[in-house]
Amino acid sequence: MAEPVLARYEGLLIDMDGVVYLDSRPISDAIDFVREARERGKRVLFLTNNSRYTVKEYAARLRSMGLECDSECIFTSAVATADYIAENLSPRGRKAFVIGGDGLREELRRVGLELVEGEQAKWAELVVVGWDVELTYEKLKVGCLAIYRGAEFIGSNPDSSFPSPEGIWPGAGAIIACLEKATGRKATVVGKPNIFMMQLALARLGTAPDRTLMIGDRLETDVLGGWRAGMDTCLVLTGVTRREDLEGFEPRPDYVVESLKELL
Ligand SMILES: [Mg+2]
Repeated sequence: MAEPVLARYEGLLIDMDGVVYLDSRPISDAIDFVREARERGKRVLFLTNNSRYTVKEYAARLRSMGLECDSECIFTSAVATADYIAENLSPRGRKAFVIGGDGLREELRRVGLELVEGEQAKWAELVVVGWDVELTYEKLKVGCLAIYRGAEFIGSNPDSSFPSPEGIWPGAGAIIACLEKATGRKATVVGKPNIFMMQLALARLGTAPDRTLMIGDRLETDVLGGWRAGMDTCLVLTGVTRREDLEGFEPRPDYVVESLKELL
């Protein structure tokens, strides 16, 4: 028998939604796969573009599904955005206006940004935009004013929509696009499939790209992002992508599986 696919890698970057769980129901093959991979000494980091929830909340969710996990195992686009700002924009003590949820706010405070509201926010040095289910015209207005006045304009992730159980909701990418349209400025967007999040995730994991496998359920974020960062990629068909969606998509994933157990 050929060597198992897993033997080629030291590290795994694993997208969560559609891979480990679907609408918060665990996918049991994925849970078994992660346990087994860890037993074989693989380093694992769980990824999501969703910046709404905190790393503690995600870690608790995975633990409730039977996976050992602490905050260090979780890499959201909020963590990536904060890491990106820490590396590139000397955040300590700078004032930031945030459109986004607790997950994003908590990470931005971690790297030393001071989060401001009201009149102060109109003069913020950074405007950071993620998914905000309490979005208002006032928030868009304040963000717009600060960006016009020269603030750094950072987006957590480019997802234009959020697939809710009732249908499609606007995602972070749609909110970012609104401010881009209003200001004529382009945001620096950190999350998948952009190279920033992929490289920061690799740095967290501590494995080389050619020894790391990116596993996800979306071609245009997980597979494209992994490929851009020089990783092999695995598309798992437990989430939003069907086999026929692969038709004509470049780059091709290195593996396409119905269940992650196939990698063992
Ligand atoms: Mg997914």
